[in-house]
Amino acid sequence: MTKDILDLAGIGIGPFNLSVAALLDQHPNVNAAFFDSKPAFSWHPGMQLPGARLQTSCLKDLVTGADPCNRHSFLNYLVQHRRFYPFLSADMTAISRREFADYLGWVAGRLPSLRFSHGVESVRFEDGLFELRFVNGQAPVYARNLCIGTGIRPNIPPACEALPPGRSLHCIHLMERARDFTGQHVAVVGGGQSGAEVMLGLMDGLWGQPASIRWFSRRANFEPLDETPFTNLYFSPGYVDAFQGLPENRRRELVHYQKLASDGISPDTLQTLYQRLYEYPLEHPGRPAPELLPGRSLYAVTDGAPMNLLTRNRLDDRFEEFRADQLLLCTGFDHGLPSCLSPLNTRLHLDTMGRPSLGKAFNLDWDGPADRAIYTVNQGRFSHGIAESQLSLTSWRSAVIVNHLLGEEHYPVAEQGVSVRWRSETAHDNPPMEDVPKKMSPSGIESI
Ligand SMILES: Cc1cc2nc3c(=O)[nH]c(=O)nc-3n(C[C@H](O)[C@H](O)[C@H](O)COP(=O)(O)OP(=O)(O)OC[C@H]3O[C@@H](n4cnc5c(N)ncnc54)[C@H](O)[C@@H]3O)c2cc1C
Repeated sequence: MTKDILDLAGIGIGPFNLSVAALLDQHPNVNAAFFDSKPAFSWHPGMQLPGARLQTSCLKDLVTGADPCNRHSFLNYLVQHRRFYPFLSADMTAISRREFADYLGWVAGRLPSLRFSHGVESVRFEDGLFELRFVNGQAPVYARNLCIGTGIRPNIPPACEALPPGRSLHCIHLMERARDFTGQHVAVVGGGQSGAEVMLGLMDGLWGQPASIRWFSRRANFEPLDETPFTNLYFSPGYVDAFQGLPENRRRELVHYQKLASDGISPDTLQTLYQRLYEYPLEHPGRPAPELLPGRSLYAVTDGAPMNLLTRNRLDDRFEEFRADQLLLCTGFDHGLPSCLSPLNTRLHLDTMGRPSLGKAFNLDWDGPADRAIYTVNQGRFSHGIAESQLSLTSWRSAVIVNHLLGEEHYPVAEQGVSVRWRSETAHDNPPMEDVPKKMSPSGIESI
């Protein structure tokens, strides 16, 4: 029996691989299939909080930036659902997360290449092909190329790792079932967008009426997402191109320096939150007002009833203790290759931090044949920049991957736009003149 060999097997069906699948849907000559362990498509259902909004323009959907006439666009979703004119009249700067999830689900329902309930257990490379084996024992699948889109994993602070289940809960699971924190002392840990949304939910009584609400953030303040135009250029193909070839330590510095461009709190959310806090004593007389504790890192948590939290205040460098019955962790996510790829680990080239190194087309640098690629989506924050883990360049990245797979520039991916020249055009490694001021800073980002 001959094997049915795929040109591309996608592992994971979140928005990023869904976008690759949506572009490939227009290429019947490419035999592709995408696998996900979930029984059906969903987008972070545990964080579908009422009123939560997308932090990205809805035009940055699965396909439009690469192929605006593609039938899987957000605009086509609106037209097919007879919502195009009502949408325009709503005049929203950002659509709801719920609507975006519905759009993604609509696309997923139209793509024959998706296979759900197919958790990938292991991937091996033999005789020039990748072999995918599945958790539920389905027949193995063989492919010439892979696209890894297994997404993110909740980051649990070391102080909480040993807590018994139920005492701490990562926010990504919050809405997976009904919860009631009535009468409990609740501590929210993490001062980004998720933390702000969870605070709003608690104040709105989404999970009952807690006895107290405290919000801890390591950041010095509750800081806004920078959405201004020049910062938004970090989320453009031109900037990714400039970033990609920089030395590793410079890329690392830039990712930290640009943190608030991707991880800050939406200004609208901050405004709503502040107003809600201001009105809280009037709306809830007799109830203790939520307490906001910026600049605190969680130092240690001792289990008990209640738990004891030891924090360190970075402002005055002092330790404090707090009581809590329930910890809600809004502590972000870790990126990394999935365990199913571990049979290939020794064949991957890593950077000095142990992260897989990625080529221009989001292909892992590995010791396999040149005509076999392992593409990854959402693994390149330190190789391609902060746009990598966001929706902004989803369709562009998919176009780069599909072009590489097809071996031709089917989609236009080179950008022309505002004339910011990020990289030097001259090629001197050292200053060409003798008389450079002696006290010039070597290269620190802060000193630019
Ligand atoms: C609550 C929330 C809101 C966000 N909002 C925005 C926003 O407004 N704007 C923005 O730009 N970014 C946003 N992001 C960031 C980013 O866009 C999302 O995290 C996005 O979902 C990432 O997509 P992904 O495809 O990489 O991974 P995911 O959506 O995490 O999907 C990965 C998929 O892989 C599957 N999988 C994992 N392992 C296996 C395996 N071994 N076999 C088979 N399947 C597997 C999982 O079941 C999952 O379905 C948000 C993130 C979160 C958490």
